[in-house]
Amino acid sequence: MYAEVIIDIISKNVDRVFNYKIPENLEDKVSKGFIVKVPFGIKNNLRDAIVIGLSEKTDIPEDRLKSIKQVCTDFSVIDDNKIELAKWMKEKYYTTLSSCLQCIIPKIVNDKLRRYAFINYKKENIEQLIKDCIKKNNQQSKVIKLLKENEGMFVYEIKMLLGIAESPIKTLEKNGLIVINQKEVMRNAFNADDFKKSDKLKPTLEQKAAIEFLKSSLKNTKRKPVLIHGVTGSGKTEIFLQLIEEVLKNGKQAIVLVPEISLTPQTVRRFTERFGDKVSVTHSKLSDGERYDQWKRAKNGDISVMIGPRSAIFAPLANLGVIIIDEEHESSYKSETTPKYDTKEVAEKIASLTGAMVVLASATPSVESYYKAKEGIYDIVKLKKRVNNSFPEIKIVDMRAELDEGNRSIFSRELFNEMKKNIENRKQTILFLNRRGYSTFVSCRKCGYVMSCENCNVNYTYHIDTNKLICHYCNAEIQSPSICPQCGLPYIKYFGVGTQKIEQEVKKYFPNARVLRMDLDTTSKKNSHEKILKSFANGEADILVGTQMIAKGLDFPNVTLVGVVAADTSLNAGDYRCGETSFQLLTQVAGRAGRADKKGKVFLQSYQSEHYSLIFTKTNDYEGFFNHEIELRRQMLYPPFSHIFFIMFIGEDEKFVISKIYVLAEIMKKYNLKAGFDILGPAPAIVSKIKKQFRYKIIVKGIEENRVKAFVLYCVDKLKEKEDLKGININLTLDPSYIQ
Ligand code: ADP
Ligand code: ZN
Repeated sequence: MYAEVIIDIISKNVDRVFNYKIPENLEDKVSKGFIVKVPFGIKNNLRDAIVIGLSEKTDIPEDRLKSIKQVCTDFSVIDDNKIELAKWMKEKYYTTLSSCLQCIIPKIVNDKLRRYAFINYKKENIEQLIKDCIKKNNQQSKVIKLLKENEGMFVYEIKMLLGIAESPIKTLEKNGLIVINQKEVMRNAFNADDFKKSDKLKPTLEQKAAIEFLKSSLKNTKRKPVLIHGVTGSGKTEIFLQLIEEVLKNGKQAIVLVPEISLTPQTVRRFTERFGDKVSVTHSKLSDGERYDQWKRAKNGDISVMIGPRSAIFAPLANLGVIIIDEEHESSYKSETTPKYDTKEVAEKIASLTGAMVVLASATPSVESYYKAKEGIYDIVKLKKRVNNSFPEIKIVDMRAELDEGNRSIFSRELFNEMKKNIENRKQTILFLNRRGYSTFVSCRKCGYVMSCENCNVNYTYHIDTNKLICHYCNAEIQSPSICPQCGLPYIKYFGVGTQKIEQEVKKYFPNARVLRMDLDTTSKKNSHEKILKSFANGEADILVGTQMIAKGLDFPNVTLVGVVAADTSLNAGDYRCGETSFQLLTQVAGRAGRADKKGKVFLQSYQSEHYSLIFTKTNDYEGFFNHEIELRRQMLYPPFSHIFFIMFIGEDEKFVISKIYVLAEIMKKYNLKAGFDILGPAPAIVSKIKKQFRYKIIVKGIEENRVKAFVLYCVDKLKEKEDLKGININLTLDPSYIQ
């Protein structure tokens, strides 16, 4: 028997299928999807590999065939559909098969599944037995010595390190000196007993129509993905819950994707309250062991609903019925590391392989998705009303006018008065600003010197709690100076507002108000997120100040006021998408107000009060926003009317980086014969230096995805043939979430 394997090395040179002989003693132990160890390369180093096919004959001459040396798993870690998916991802995201396989199978699977050996200290007289054993000075004694030094070790490691077979280890186990543990502790990432059971709600008319549509679509084998466009507070979660109930009734399973799970504990709670311990949650703060446990539970069929961020799309559920992608417009659904997959595309591919249904949902769908719905590629379901039937009143406040009229504070008079009223009436307020720290710009009033990071082309942010200047790109920090490092005079001044400053101002004006702040600085510890939200939900604070962490998914009935302190921070990011992302963010934040029986009010403070993203937020007019935005995209030939390939060269030697990216630009010009593609640059990236690395970019625009991709990859290959690029990291992204 022969096995086709993929070697677990990410390199273009070994990115193909290799054939190995299966020795007779392993024949009944190797199957498709198993992890094995094979000798590889001239030195025959043992490497991990995944078996992706078995055959009874091979074209490779017998004397050139090597044999599988070990079998590391006793079950398949990947099924045929996922192997197909990996092959598709390799082409789609221009990468290697092994990087796709690594992305689909958690790395930890490799390690955990192997048997772990340690000394059996519970055995009577164990110390004595060890002493005998060590005296023997044979293979067994070497094993014992090794285990004594290392507490415990994987069996395969012992064999490799000592260059021995398995039998001495087996003998030690038989005699009770060591224990080999294969049992996995199956932890659930949360305690399902903590949640009370909730029954399903009687749906509103709009919810009912949506649920019925989804259920009928579920039965249709020729269905399209469904986009649920429902305003904030329209009860989308209840729709998911009732759809999943139907899916489970059919004996199938569900994947629910959320942008980042630790940001939305409330959403998770609703699922666990409905489906109990059939629900599993993965998120970025899980330990490797916990992550593995979730994976294994899914594989064993112990899970019916898997909730998690984008990587949860690869959960090994055998009988998938539906994939729900909530907040589908979020940029975190695009992977920024290789393979640079788009979760929505992967979901559609999985659906086509398994027959599962895809549901996308958002109050502010991405322009691309809404365009697909318009073109009939997606089905669409709309919910225009809130469950409570009341939409917050949104006001744009022109901060230029405030200044003209003598108000120099960070709060407009209207927002200030409403905050005051809210505190008096024991209602809660959310203040939003997408910048952490105290001051975002520190400079000398005398000579104009600006404090900026040495490693990055970025200004320092002042943090008042530590009295430090911190670079938000590389985390470098220095003591805040009292005199200017350039002219030596004591005229250091702090400009620009961050969340710490807001917190301080609130305390200054409202000394009796209880304030909580939620940003990266206050949530670095595990569970700190949940703690802050819980405390706010329990009414332990009047005001919650925060960054985009508080923009999404939060449902606090007592919040009646939302203040966006500077609605223009994201309008001028220099990216063609910033109109869209601003509209989405502002609509989401505004949606936190007045979600229950109390009327909500929202203030958008801005110096660009006429910007269309603000206007359409105010009128809660997604359709209007979309029509405006799609016209801009059409005129400028931006997605969805084109595809953008973003190429970035990153390296320490700026001159070298520039010279090489110019060579690439020349090659591109040469091969862009019929000028089919728009080539912009080379130019410095928006942040042109991070962590001492210089960053330069080229942008290529074209109509057809495959042609743009082929063109860019061809030119980059030509460059690699021609030039020595050592020291340069080339970063290629098709249709990035944002232009850097
Ligand atoms: P969305 O995700 O669309 O912003 P949610 O799912 O958070 O909205 O729902 C908003 C609020 O309305 C939640 O507090 C939810 O419990 C409540 N809700 C949803 N559907 C119903 C219903 N049919 N009856 C009563 N309350 C509902
Ligand atoms: Zn820095």
